[in-house]
Amino acid sequence: MSILVTGGAGYIGSHTCIELMNAGYDVVVLDNFYNCKREALRRIKELSGKEFKFYECDIRDRKGLDHIFQNEQIDCVIHFAGLKAVGESVVKPLEYFDNNVGGTVTLLEAMRDNGCKKIVFSSSATVYGMDNVSPLKEDMPVGGVTNPYGRTKLMIEEILRDLYRADSSWSIILLRYFNPIGAHKSGRIGEDPNGIPNNLMPYITQVAIGKLECLSVYGDDYDTPDGTGVRDYIHVVDLALGHVKAVEKAAEAAGLHTYNLGTGKGYSVLDMVHAFEKASGVKINYKIVGRRAGDIGTCYSDPSLAKKELDWEAQRDLEEMCEDSWRWQKNNPNGYPDD
Ligand code: NAD
Ligand code: UDP
Repeated sequence: MSILVTGGAGYIGSHTCIELMNAGYDVVVLDNFYNCKREALRRIKELSGKEFKFYECDIRDRKGLDHIFQNEQIDCVIHFAGLKAVGESVVKPLEYFDNNVGGTVTLLEAMRDNGCKKIVFSSSATVYGMDNVSPLKEDMPVGGVTNPYGRTKLMIEEILRDLYRADSSWSIILLRYFNPIGAHKSGRIGEDPNGIPNNLMPYITQVAIGKLECLSVYGDDYDTPDGTGVRDYIHVVDLALGHVKAVEKAAEAAGLHTYNLGTGKGYSVLDMVHAFEKASGVKINYKIVGRRAGDIGTCYSDPSLAKKELDWEAQRDLEEMCEDSWRWQKNNPNGYPDD
């Protein structure tokens, strides 16, 4: 079976390509290099020991997509490609709607017209909004998102639900990710943010390596055990393996399914600092500052549906997540080399 991975050179995509090839799938990668480096592709090949096809293409480029579908026998698409910076999306909403929503519509049209109706989509826990109480379950109401990035995920989910209502021969799997961290065991691929990281773990690892001075902890007055924000961190390789299971599910029968991919456990910001210090032996400088706009106190999953229906469960614990994040950062202090 051949899987088209959009955004396959990015953080989650690169790890997923390796796990797909390990599981015996043929992989075709599409990326426009907006937020990744070519070196990631070389390392995917090195780690998997397998060849794969790569197309430099934008998901908004209909002709480019048709060319891929006509050249390759694509059975299923895993759709990672998108912009993902919450703060940037507030400043550049149109770019986010164009790239994420417009790009997905173009991709879906190209799939339909070329006879490929199986898709696994990268959604996010952000679609649960501010009002649901954790543990979050797939049948809770979605909405109440606080920024354009989150709105693109919600809109794409709605588009996919409408598409399935209109044509039930589609196989659609919506995967709601919680907080992916960690890296491949080899330390060869990992998360390579541009500029100052927005997310907690890359910020911590850059403080540890000495690139940043001090972590700002956004608020210690939440209703959580130590007052700092609680999240459901999941190892990126566990997340990647969830995609392999989702592809199997999509191949079984037409349908639309939604799954949380998380561990079901919540850790606070200070838990993360201490776990990282233990795993790395490096002390993390931090200071408590005010809350970050739009943040919620607690967000973690109920992952039981994915266990029941996909036979998938996260295996890697917090210690392993921290060790692997640190190995990647230590071995690649400046991320991937420039192309
Ligand atoms: P990433 O930025 O590392 O990967 C996305 C890839 O898509 C990049 O390589 C980028 O160059 C490519 N891309 C962007 N726009 C494109 C376009 N128009 N055409 C072709 N390629 C394009 O991000 P990631 O962390 O690997 O996230 C992958 C997906 O998962 C995204 O859709 C993201 O919104 C979603 N997600 C991520 C997280 C997270 O915390 N990392 C959480 C929930 C959901
Ligand atoms: N956080 C923090 N300092 C940072 C980045 C994040 O205290 O520099 C906190 C944030 O407020 C949240 C948690 O860490 O409670 C996870 O934040 P992240 O941005 O990684 O994920 P998200 O908020 O999208 O779940």
